[in-house]
Amino acid sequence: MDLLVVGSGFFGLTIAERAAASDRKVTVIDRRPHIGGNAYSEDEPNTGIEVHRYGAHLFHTSNPGVWEYVNRFTTFTDYVHRVYTNHKGVVYPLPINLGTINQFFNAAYSPDGARALVQELAGEFDAKDAANLEEKGIALIGRPLYEAFIRDYTAKQWQTDPKNLPAEVISRLPVRYNYDNRYFNDTWEGLPTDGYTAWLERMADHPNIEVKLDTDFFDESQPLNKGTTVGQLPIVYTGPVDRYFDYTEGALSWRTLDFEQEVLEVADFQGTPVMNYADADVPYTRIHEFKHFHPERADRYPTDRTVIMREFSRFASREDEPYYPVNTAEDRNGLLAYRELAKSEKDVLFGGRLGTYQYLDMHMAIGSALSMWNNQLQ
Ligand code: FAD
Ligand code: UDP
Repeated sequence: MDLLVVGSGFFGLTIAERAAASDRKVTVIDRRPHIGGNAYSEDEPNTGIEVHRYGAHLFHTSNPGVWEYVNRFTTFTDYVHRVYTNHKGVVYPLPINLGTINQFFNAAYSPDGARALVQELAGEFDAKDAANLEEKGIALIGRPLYEAFIRDYTAKQWQTDPKNLPAEVISRLPVRYNYDNRYFNDTWEGLPTDGYTAWLERMADHPNIEVKLDTDFFDESQPLNKGTTVGQLPIVYTGPVDRYFDYTEGALSWRTLDFEQEVLEVADFQGTPVMNYADADVPYTRIHEFKHFHPERADRYPTDRTVIMREFSRFASREDEPYYPVNTAEDRNGLLAYRELAKSEKDVLFGGRLGTYQYLDMHMAIGSALSMWNNQLQ
């Protein structure tokens, strides 16, 4: 074995695939019973509808190198992501656009008219100096729209007052003064034609790659554990960085999600893939309806049943799956300390969402693995 990869998510598989293509023998271990990390999906057994086990995953990128690379393993459908939100029993389009603004104010503003209105409503704060998510949200769209669509949804999702969240979180969402309600701004977008798992399996399908599932790096009873491998061969570690160092610098905080999946005896539950619930009195943040991600599969998906998944958000304990880094000031200090420790760990490179404590979209995880391969491992 020339390389050990801990974690078979997109980061680990990209490293393994590149190494295998360069004639290195690679072993990938994962503590879960399947490959693919959080992008893993499987067909719901009663309906055959593809369900994303760890939350809906939409692929999008503007990085030509990443787009070329991913197309080696899968083709993509022409799916374009659009999201709606339910506020006080009325459905509005997201991200906030001219359609949302006009519906909310029951008006017919032109793009310039809406800009002038928002400028007037947003005067309290300046977007450049916004110190937290609340100030940034108000600066971008004004208080009424912020309170309707952002404040309670964000508080529900992060279980943290938006005043204590970093302003960047909200910068992920564009605000548009036209009727374009595409959720993402990227050049390329789509879903893997044969599903995520087929794509992930093709990345791992090489005679130089051996995959061992149900294998935890910290389990001393399995031979490829931390104690027996570190210092003996190059390792790419994509598990949680604080776990690697036994939480010596404190546990970094994460948000986790609980999913409630249901098969319903109706053809169509909500008419769209994702409906957000903006208000505090609804305990879940959104409902996914998976058949709508693949309209091109209509002839093989059932016409009398559908699969929905309600998503609930809460703080993660050590036993939970870590999903989103919370990134408080304390977390950022802890992360700096872990980065110092990581530098002196012989022959171990830390990568991916958990290994770097960063929210990475799939294209970012793949792009960052390609850079690590080219710059540090090749
Ligand atoms: P992961 O996929 O988390 O893989 C890490 C792997 O390491 C896991 O399989 C884990 O089991 C394994 N591991 C951890 N510890 C150990 C250990 N001790 N021993 C062995 N194995 C271990 N991105 C998008 O582009 N679009 C989306 O719509 C999108 N939606 C998302 C929704 C949710 C709810 C979440 C959480 C993420 C979403 N993402 C999305 C991000 C996407 O999941 C990540 O970009 C991608 O999973 C990153 O891959 P990774 O390899 O870094 O991490
Ligand atoms: N957000 C919101 N209302 C919505 C959708 C998003 O307030 O209806 C905010 C929320 O703070 C969220 C951020 O925008 O954390 C980023 O949204 P995104 O949809 O990218 O979140 P994700 O899909 O990653 O959970």
